[in-house]
Amino acid sequence: MARHGRLYVISGPAGVGKSEIVKTVLKNHEDVGLSVSCTTRAPRPGEVDGVSYHFVTDERFDQLVAEGAFYEWANVHQHRYGTLRSAVRDGLEQGRDLILEIDVQGCLQVMRQDPEATSIFVCPPSRENLEKRLRDRGTETEESIRVRLGNVAREVATAYHYDYIIVHYDWSEVPDALQIASEQVYDIISTRRLERQSSIEFLDALNQSLNR
Ligand code: 5GP
Repeated sequence: MARHGRLYVISGPAGVGKSEIVKTVLKNHEDVGLSVSCTTRAPRPGEVDGVSYHFVTDERFDQLVAEGAFYEWANVHQHRYGTLRSAVRDGLEQGRDLILEIDVQGCLQVMRQDPEATSIFVCPPSRENLEKRLRDRGTETEESIRVRLGNVAREVATAYHYDYIIVHYDWSEVPDALQIASEQVYDIISTRRLERQSSIEFLDALNQSLNR
């Protein structure tokens, strides 16, 4: 049965572990893809251009905006980030479900264009836990940690608009927290595939053959 891919937006505050969760889903489930975003921020140690992000200059980002190349884009934590239309189109055309790991402003833009898209918000168990994770990550300056924590309250306030809420617990309290959260994401994807709407073409064909 030919299946059309669907969009899954995953958002949550910086440091909550979205990237690890998404990486684990992709590692364990080949039938799910990830859209690689463009960003004007500098790569962090270990990040690879074209894999983590397409790292672009401000000028290039302006050009992509002018060309209408973005499905959505937003200013986040003093940099610009955007999802390329081509990444969404290519992913969905292959019949794969596609994860967009994007911020809350981007999520609202996606939901406006594709009401069928599913939104998932990842929460930390507490503010203290989130602050600890950001510091432990060791990739942010004190200024960057301050900016990101300052945005958390606003971000979490939008969680009420998301379809699903996942709590990513601290591994020191819940040792397989990452596994649990990633399987919850995949459970959501699997459940949506079983919805009637996903099987309309199949049901039509089956009914037609039975009524011959
Ligand atoms: P980071 O710099 O920590 O990788 O990401 C910062 C924030 O930007 C995260 O909340 C992440 O989800 C968001 N982000 C990453 N890519 C995109 C994108 O293409 N569009 C939007 N709107 N947000 C993005």
